[in-house]
Amino acid sequence: MKTPRLSSRRTFLGHLSLGAAGLTLTSRSRAQGSPRPLGVALVGLGGYATGQLGPALKLTQHCRLTGVVTGSREKGLKWAQEFGFPEKNIYNYGNMARLADNPDIDIVYVVTPNSLHPEHVIAAAWARKHVISEKPMANSVADCDAMLTACRLAGVKLSVGYRLQFEPHYLELKRLARDGDFGVLKKMSGALAFPIRRRVWRVEKKMAGGGPLMDIGIYCVQAACMAALPPGAGQWSGASTVAITAREHPKTRPEFFLDVEEGIDWTMEFPNGAKAEFMTSYNQGADRFRAEGDKGWIEFTPAFPYGGLKVTTSRGPFTPPVPRSQQAVQMDDFALSIRENRPSPVPGEMGRRDMVILEAIYASAARGGRRIEIKV
Ligand code: NAD
Repeated sequence: MKTPRLSSRRTFLGHLSLGAAGLTLTSRSRAQGSPRPLGVALVGLGGYATGQLGPALKLTQHCRLTGVVTGSREKGLKWAQEFGFPEKNIYNYGNMARLADNPDIDIVYVVTPNSLHPEHVIAAAWARKHVISEKPMANSVADCDAMLTACRLAGVKLSVGYRLQFEPHYLELKRLARDGDFGVLKKMSGALAFPIRRRVWRVEKKMAGGGPLMDIGIYCVQAACMAALPPGAGQWSGASTVAITAREHPKTRPEFFLDVEEGIDWTMEFPNGAKAEFMTSYNQGADRFRAEGDKGWIEFTPAFPYGGLKVTTSRGPFTPPVPRSQQAVQMDDFALSIRENRPSPVPGEMGRRDMVILEAIYASAARGGRRIEIKV
């Protein structure tokens, strides 16, 4: 986020703290008492919203699409027709405050480029809507803090679009970690990479916060943190120390990757002695994850797609029951967490934890691979 926005955000948070005490959270109280599916508004109708979240919202049981925020009225009208919501539920980026008056919308799902997540999440919180932010939650820990504060003051939930947290193979990984079934998963490795040839916002630091690490390397960080869950932990464990060392790849196309990394290798060390080695790049292809303990191992190839993960363990292939859309399960769980007034297993704090790790990876790479200890 650029500096000018920070001052307006402070004013924003100031208003929020003054107003929060007197607010009646109509969407929340209605949601708690009613069996109707909760209404979701997607913010940003680009590739992920169109290709994945829209179709998933046709499969959800506890929420449905009831509105959109888009820069294109024409696109909004098409979505309204396809999903059967009224034209009044089409918003643009400039009038999100009006969401506050719309009882059809309980959840705002922010699917814009990374640098815009803070602005759109805070606008949604200000409108007293529960929020999901796409990953990465923001481009800095400071922005994550502003988003968490806004949501806390507004009394709304904040989650991150970490679909794999609900994916059955990863649920098994978390179970293995917590039960110590294969012993402590001490040795982890993996990679996620794909080549980018066309100039897009993903290779502009101002928009993306960085290169492949911010966009796809974050999945490796997520997988490592799942495998490093301490025995008996819940869905996630916030408090631990991680040590990071990282090295950026030499650029083969410096004229293309102007201010972001082309690729990067990094190592994470966890307090239980687990060590994870990863690579991400926009200049090659890779998609794998492996975790190994004293008593067994689990391997994902491919590890991170929307469907069709293949998982083998030292006991043989792991095939979960009939797969459901990762995104449908993710959004249904968030809707239920609101209705049941329980914490989401993927809270905003998890997005912040990952941002602390990503910042440390960049810091280590910038210092020529110096080992950096962080508390997450
Ligand atoms: P995209 O470029 O296809 O779509 C971005 C949307 O934001 C477009 O509709 C665009 O019009 C809109 N937008 C609003 N203001 C904009 C601006 N100033 N500049 C550019 N676009 C602007 O991107 P995408 O692939 O849909 O990614 C959107 C977000 O979703 C990103 O944060 C990305 O990391 C995340 N994502 C998550 C997953 C996942 O599996 N969870 C997968 C893909 C993308």
